[in-house]
Amino acid sequence: MVISWSFLKAFEQCPYQQKLIRMDKVIPKKMDERRFIPGAVGHRFFEVWAKRGFDDGITPKTVERILYIMTNRKNIMWGDKSVYEKVKKRVINEASMIIEAVQHHGIDKLENIHVEKFFSKPLPCNQHSVAGKVDMVANNGTWLLEMKMSAEAKWQDSDQLIFYSLLLGSIQRRYPERLTFFLPVMKNIEDRLLNIEFAKDDFIDMYRRIQDIILKWDAGQFPATGDKETCQYCSVRNYCNQF
Ligand code: SF4
Repeated sequence: MVISWSFLKAFEQCPYQQKLIRMDKVIPKKMDERRFIPGAVGHRFFEVWAKRGFDDGITPKTVERILYIMTNRKNIMWGDKSVYEKVKKRVINEASMIIEAVQHHGIDKLENIHVEKFFSKPLPCNQHSVAGKVDMVANNGTWLLEMKMSAEAKWQDSDQLIFYSLLLGSIQRRYPERLTFFLPVMKNIEDRLLNIEFAKDDFIDMYRRIQDIILKWDAGQFPATGDKETCQYCSVRNYCNQF
C-alpha cells in the first residue's frame, strides 16, 4: 500500500471507502472534473513557468494552451462556449496573480528549486511505502511550499506540510526549516505566502498517524465511518453496505 497525504486523510475519514477502492478494486463513480480544472491549470502553469526559469516569455496564450490541453486530456465537455470563455478568463487572471505573487515574494530569485517533486520511501517491512508530490522544494530542501489555488482556509491544512516534511526528512535526513502555503489567489499580495508554525512533536504525531493506519490495514480493520459530508461525496457510495 502506498500512503499518500490524500490516502491518509481519506482512510482516517472512512477506512471502508478505501478498502472498497484499493482492496476490492471497485470502480469509483466518475466525478465532474470541470470544477477542478482552474486549480489544475494554475498548478501546471506555475510548474511550466518555474521550469523555464521564471522567464519573461510567458503570456496569456501559454495559459490558454494549458487549459486547452487539460480539457482534451480529461475529455471535458464545457457545453455552452460561453462557459469555456468564462473559465479561460478566470485561469488567465489567476495566472497573472501567480506572476505577481512570484515576483513580489522573490520566488523567481530563488536558486535550486524543484517543482512537482515526487518523493517515495519504502517502510521497513517493505510491504508499504509513503509517497507524495511536493509543489515546490527550495533552498536545498530547507523550504517547502504547497500551492493552493483557493483562498478558502479549509484547504490550508498544515498537517499536509507536516506529512511532506516527514517524508522529505526521512529521505534527506534533514527536516525542512520553513513550511509555507503559497496562495496566489489571495486578494492581498502580502497574504499570498503563509508560513506555518510547527514543532518536532508534529512530526512524531504524524508518524504515529501513519503507523496507526498500517496497523489497521494489516489487521483488516475497515469500519464504515464516513460522516454526512464524506458520504454525500463518496465515489463508491453505491457499493457501501451502509446504504
Ligand atoms: S458511503 Fe460513507 S460510510 Fe460508506 S464507504 Fe462511503 S464514506 Fe464510507
